[in-house]
Amino acid sequence: MKKFQFAVIAGFVLIAFFIVVALFATYKVPYEPKQRLLVLMIGGFRHDYVIRDQANLIGFPRLRVEGVRAEYLTPVFPSDSYPNWYTAATGLYPESTGIFNRKFFNRTTKELYIPKIEPVWTRAMRKGLNSTVLYWDGCQLDFLENKTSPGQAKKLGTLTCIPNKDDWDSNTIFRDFTRILYSILDDFVKDRTSLAMVYYPIIDMVGHRFGPDSNETINAVRDIDLIIYNLLNQLDRRQLTRSANVYVLSDHGMSAPKHRILLENYVNLHEVKIWIGDLYARGKGTFGMILPHNPNHTESIYHYLHAQEIEGLHVYKKEDIPFGFHVKYSDKIGPIVIRAHPDYYIDATNYTETDTKTEGAIGFHGYFPHEFDDMNGIMYAVGPSFRRGFRGGPIEQVDHYQLFCHVMRIRAKPNNGSWVRVRDFIETY
Ligand SMILES: [Zn+2]
Repeated sequence: MKKFQFAVIAGFVLIAFFIVVALFATYKVPYEPKQRLLVLMIGGFRHDYVIRDQANLIGFPRLRVEGVRAEYLTPVFPSDSYPNWYTAATGLYPESTGIFNRKFFNRTTKELYIPKIEPVWTRAMRKGLNSTVLYWDGCQLDFLENKTSPGQAKKLGTLTCIPNKDDWDSNTIFRDFTRILYSILDDFVKDRTSLAMVYYPIIDMVGHRFGPDSNETINAVRDIDLIIYNLLNQLDRRQLTRSANVYVLSDHGMSAPKHRILLENYVNLHEVKIWIGDLYARGKGTFGMILPHNPNHTESIYHYLHAQEIEGLHVYKKEDIPFGFHVKYSDKIGPIVIRAHPDYYIDATNYTETDTKTEGAIGFHGYFPHEFDDMNGIMYAVGPSFRRGFRGGPIEQVDHYQLFCHVMRIRAKPNNGSWVRVRDFIETY
């Protein structure tokens, strides 16, 4: 009897051994379990910039062959920088993040407005991962004022943050960004950071100043293309190809509208406050809000504007904004919203508050992207977490967050992204 029991146990052990051996035999050594992610957000990079100049590019073709790409990327409305940066980092529409303008200010209290929604780098820090966020505004906001959440057991990761700035020198930016990106790869190698998110500003700057079809924009695209090419070479050289992923996306596209709408012809500027686009109050742009000083005048100002039937301009009362714009339920949206049609832009006054971006601007963004494909951007990703040589369908700005979380093994918070649109990008082992 004992012999029989022994034989049965020995049989089970043997079978278990063969199962384990078989599993190991079919198990591909996938990648290093700790994955790194470098997200490079290229400001104002329109979806067709790569296609129109592909004969002269070497970095983007490598991304295409070695990784995944979306057919194009649809930004959120308004298709301006700040709303899209924050949506990419949270997976939520501006309706939830409350970010519509360039600054994180509360319109009413004038205080710095801190969205209650944590971006992905804060999620990473809660998991104990170090993050580096450079020129991607929002990183300077303190989401961890309570430092730990209930049940938080892990030590928090660190955050290296440099907020956005406008005084870039286009003569040195190629060298500056090459150095910045290489030092991030060094930090990956030394395990000093796991998630890096970097905003690259020059394509947007030259797109505004010279227009999307200018030689300046074409040359700027070739510069970032070369930076990407060199970056991919450095992944090989630093033996990071099994652990580091590079994710390239843009916030929005760019267009060169021909027609100007001069708002002061239709609105008494002493009666209202105006915010336009991701630029400055009373500036130029394609999306804006009008806040009557006396709230009782909202109806009459709206009806007056609406009755003018201004060519190229949509005017909405907040409650009438179409649901699909994903903005109307935010308390940061003013009582009257205006937006330009494609081929038009809005100028508040003849005496615009100028800055380097708006002065003599040719290029604009901010339009409702679903009716204007000039606003569409790009998405590429390469690395062990992504498939090779795969092109997916169009994706939206709300979709990246789930991919970032997936790569970093972070549990995503509820978000507006669609897993169906991005799941085929993932490498499965
Ligand atoms: Zn811009």
